[in-house]
Amino acid sequence: MKKNLFLFLIVFACQSKSNNYFELISENDIELKAPIEGEWLYSHKEKGQDLTQFKNSKSVKPKSNCNIIYLKPIGNFKNLQKKQIEITKEYLEIFFQIKTEILSDVSVNIIPKTARRIGYESNEQLLASYILDTILKKEKHKNQIALMAISEMDLYPKPEWNYVFGLASYMDRVGVTSVYRFQDENLIQSDFNLCLSRLLKISSHEIGHMFGMHHCIAAKCVMNGTNNIDETDGSVVRLCSNCQQKINFNFQFNNNKRLNDLAFFFKKHNLNQELELINLDIGKIKK
Ligand SMILES: [Zn+2]
Ligand SMILES: [Zn+2]
Repeated sequence: MKKNLFLFLIVFACQSKSNNYFELISENDIELKAPIEGEWLYSHKEKGQDLTQFKNSKSVKPKSNCNIIYLKPIGNFKNLQKKQIEITKEYLEIFFQIKTEILSDVSVNIIPKTARRIGYESNEQLLASYILDTILKKEKHKNQIALMAISEMDLYPKPEWNYVFGLASYMDRVGVTSVYRFQDENLIQSDFNLCLSRLLKISSHEIGHMFGMHHCIAAKCVMNGTNNIDETDGSVVRLCSNCQQKINFNFQFNNNKRLNDLAFFFKKHNLNQELELINLDIGKIKK
């Protein structure tokens, strides 16, 4: 009896410590302003998803045979782009505190003509839903929890849309994102960090969907929907306290370790704005 009480107290102590973490960092959450024309929430009236709704959804929890995120590059990537994919792998491993691996590149020739078009900007685009349904859903890699393709070419989700940055399936935990719109014609060193920051945001956002998170309307957050590259650039790399609570519910990681890992990563890759943001959260938990 005494032993049970002791265990209960330990669990309770851990829980309140973790709740305290979310309370502290919530002081850094920034409320979203009323959307203006052109922004995602102006044209998409979304209801958001609170923690209870998330907990009641059938989101996936890692198990010993289901605990690796895979990235699958599709296309002909230049060296700087390959470097960004490597860094993105490193980031996702920290962001979700889960092992992430890069699969071998595959040629864009795996996409047939019927799943391509010349878009409104005269560039060739790939049908994102084809990549999800016909390619990714059929693949099962060892201990796969999520699979995200990264396309060198531009994507479109359906004929009436101009383009899409990424698309993910909640049920199958597969998704695709494209680097095409993150850079000018060719990625050059001076644009490296801006493009990298875009790829980090979109990748964590799409994989966040695969783990059951809906778009966030609670605060400025990497799970906010974005309509265009300007809105993506104005969005933040950070998960708000509410969304952090969601992934922590599934992944049960150490919150303080994750913050310190993120700070180390941003410092190492000279992502200074991102480092400043994460240091604000570290400042809250150090007090
Ligand atoms: Zn989204
Ligand atoms: Zn959020």
